[in-house]
Amino acid sequence: MMVLMNADAVTDQSEEVLKRIAAHNLHAVRLPGDEHIAIGITSAIPSNLRESLTNELAALPGVDHVVQISRPYKLASREFHREDTVINIKGVEIGGNTCVVMAGPCSIESREQLYAAANAVQQSGAKVLRGGAYKPRTSPYAFQGLGLEGLRLLKEVGDELGILTITEVMAPEDVASVAAHTDILQIGARNMQNYPLLIAAGKSGHPTMLKRGPSASLDEFLLAAEYLLHHGTPDVLLCERGVHPLDRTYTRNTLDLNAVPALKHISHLPVIVDPSHGVGVARYVPAMAKAGLASGADGLMIEVHPNPKEALSDGSQSLIPEEFEKTMGQLKLIASAIDRSL
Ligand code: PEP
Ligand code: MN
Repeated sequence: MMVLMNADAVTDQSEEVLKRIAAHNLHAVRLPGDEHIAIGITSAIPSNLRESLTNELAALPGVDHVVQISRPYKLASREFHREDTVINIKGVEIGGNTCVVMAGPCSIESREQLYAAANAVQQSGAKVLRGGAYKPRTSPYAFQGLGLEGLRLLKEVGDELGILTITEVMAPEDVASVAAHTDILQIGARNMQNYPLLIAAGKSGHPTMLKRGPSASLDEFLLAAEYLLHHGTPDVLLCERGVHPLDRTYTRNTLDLNAVPALKHISHLPVIVDPSHGVGVARYVPAMAKAGLASGADGLMIEVHPNPKEALSDGSQSLIPEEFEKTMGQLKLIASAIDRSL
């Protein structure tokens, strides 16, 4: 439920609305917007209260009208927040007219490997360096990441080159140390519904990119994003990274590009497409990166490795720097064809 105040409503009148809502033990927030003051109720409203509460609030002085919200998520919905959210991190805007490319290796393996990838992707126009230090691996015998040492390398290389960084956090107790070493936290697909992790990341207030679980519906995805918003970070990025495929013979996942225009319609949050995990085969990544951008994504996340054959994870879906550079040139043309830039 959302209460829209008259254009000339005074502060005391909106305070009264907030008080009445609180008296029913419901949580409400003031919503951004320049024309009218709006107040949104984020709590689930018991069905037997809905009608009487609507009448009670609509009758208060200064209230223009009360709108019922159809979505299960509130803070993530475009009903609550009409304008696109543009996140500004150290001067780099994500969600605005310029599309942002995040690129780098799946895993941080050494300073040399990370620096070579970082330098190459930055030269080609990437604005964010990716690299995993804590890796969610299907097998316990696979490379698990360099942990804290990897975080240190990421910060060192990011600072040296002056490029933003993003890295995955897997455990609530690691949120503070990961946030101290990176500009954007990444919550991986496997952890999309790890609620203690979402709460800890939300409470950190740090910008966070949430990857869609491979079987998650868009409502489940946005309700997971709602946890981050509700617990305190306004800077949330949504990432489509492929859903469970019908067939794994030729590709790893199925990049659900339907999700991009749908998410842009129902949510105000920036949408990033990850074609690397989405298709899972390096040869097909450039095509799906271009399709992702054309579908309306605000950015892309692409795995790039200086020597994919030697990579400790996801080498088979990683581009070499030359392929990445070529793809970036094509992406720039697509961006300009849809009145955006890169
Ligand atoms: C990754 O970005 O390397 C990763 C593990 O991604 P996902 O969570 O989408 O599988
Ligand atoms: Mn990977």
